[in-house]
Amino acid sequence: MAHNFDVVIIGGGILGTSISYYLSCLNKSKKIAVIEQAHKVAFHTSGRNTGKVHAPYLYDPEKKKLFAKAAFHGYEMWEEYAALRGLPFKKDGVIEVALDQKGIKVLEKYLRWGKQNGLEDKDVKLMSNTELKKIEPEIKCEAALYVYKDGSADYSIFTDSIMKDSKAGGTKFILDTRVTKIKKEHSKWEITLDGEHEICAKFLINAAGGEAINIAHDVEVAEKFTDVHFRGEYWRAPKEYHNLTKTSVYSVPEFPEYPFLDPHWIIRVDGSCEIGPNAVPVFSPYGYNKTENIREIIPKMLEMLGSGARKTIFDKQFQELAVNEIRSLMSKSVMVKRVKRFLPKIDADKITEKGTAGIRSSVIDDNGKFVSDVILIDGDMSFHILNYNSPGATGALPFSAHIVNHLNTAGLLKSDDLSAQCGPWKFASIIEKL
Ligand SMILES: Cc1cc2nc3c(=O)[nH]c(=O)nc-3n(C[C@H](O)[C@H](O)[C@H](O)COP(=O)(O)OP(=O)(O)OC[C@H]3O[C@@H](n4cnc5c(N)ncnc54)[C@H](O)[C@@H]3O)c2cc1C
Repeated sequence: MAHNFDVVIIGGGILGTSISYYLSCLNKSKKIAVIEQAHKVAFHTSGRNTGKVHAPYLYDPEKKKLFAKAAFHGYEMWEEYAALRGLPFKKDGVIEVALDQKGIKVLEKYLRWGKQNGLEDKDVKLMSNTELKKIEPEIKCEAALYVYKDGSADYSIFTDSIMKDSKAGGTKFILDTRVTKIKKEHSKWEITLDGEHEICAKFLINAAGGEAINIAHDVEVAEKFTDVHFRGEYWRAPKEYHNLTKTSVYSVPEFPEYPFLDPHWIIRVDGSCEIGPNAVPVFSPYGYNKTENIREIIPKMLEMLGSGARKTIFDKQFQELAVNEIRSLMSKSVMVKRVKRFLPKIDADKITEKGTAGIRSSVIDDNGKFVSDVILIDGDMSFHILNYNSPGATGALPFSAHIVNHLNTAGLLKSDDLSAQCGPWKFASIIEKL
């Protein structure tokens, strides 16, 4: 006899886990399950990122309003949650540097956006290179945006803790188990796990990260979209560089119309330093190595050539960017050179150890254009979250609350008690802020 659930969430990344946290808090009577194919939550992108709790200065307040708001409130919520559970969180700021006059204009725009997205004067400051030199003598630039309200965390630890809270609220986490087939039968979903067992759900939430598009397509949703995967690689810096700067350093992106940034100088929450990530096109959301990429190359190429992505592949600027990124895959010194532009002291020969790569899946529309914002789709007895990219980990707590509230308001999935207290937050007051 198949197990019956009220809600099944596909994907135990930071998003699916956070959604389950609120659902279990607001619904004592509902049976909720999260299905995750890996042996632990946040095994993929959520546990393989830069670990920054980002202030919302990079996000256009008009085009990415909800994402910017989620990042703004996410920062405070993670800070509060980390204090409550005794998890590592450092308010260590970030510096965004401009390397030429054009870049200074971009910093001015970021300052404006940051303020529009809620940052105050004390949170962010535009500095000349001489002003910055007094604080960070090793950084070379034309000007810098010093963002004080930016932090570092380990999202794998955060997701694991949210999972424990969600479990305590009654969610069942089914790990090491892959959803292999979904079929709607007699007003419920029949979900096949690992090709053999079956469970049933009245409502399905697709939070499957790099596979969210495939799952949406399986149930005939979002058919005009496809996606492209980019592997972001990191290199670990030796101990002698750990005090090179006090703060992580980003640079104004060379290709702002693409959904990723140039490699940064990263100080992680444990104090170790890394360079990265680049963005190398790969053929699978799990294309960490050659074997997986070779296996997926033909199906992915066929899918791309038959969709809007075809136009992207033949776009000259995209080709230039891809070549740039592939060069920094093949040669460590090319990646280091990109960071050396603003931290000249770094010597590529001293950087020998690779970090943990993470994969970003960016959605492309039928015109071959990258979609800049997250895509939320109401399905029939289902809800789909596509293109949930940076700063998705920062905004996961408020964003998930938004989704749960939306499902309630739209009548797709009514919650029992919206006035409930979920950990340190009243659910209704999170929603009021968004
Ligand atoms: C290189 C890089 C750096 C980043 N840096 C930052 C940062 O510094 N700060 C920040 O805020 N954000 C950052 N991000 C973005 C952030 O990591 C993501 O937005 C976020 O982790 C996405 O979470 P998710 O839960 O949607 O996806 P995921 O973490 O990918 O989770 C989806 C899960 O679904 C599971 N799944 C998929 N299909 C199935 C199936 N059929 N059956 C069972 N399980 C399935 C997968 O195994 C996966 O665990 C970065 C991203 C990248 C790639």
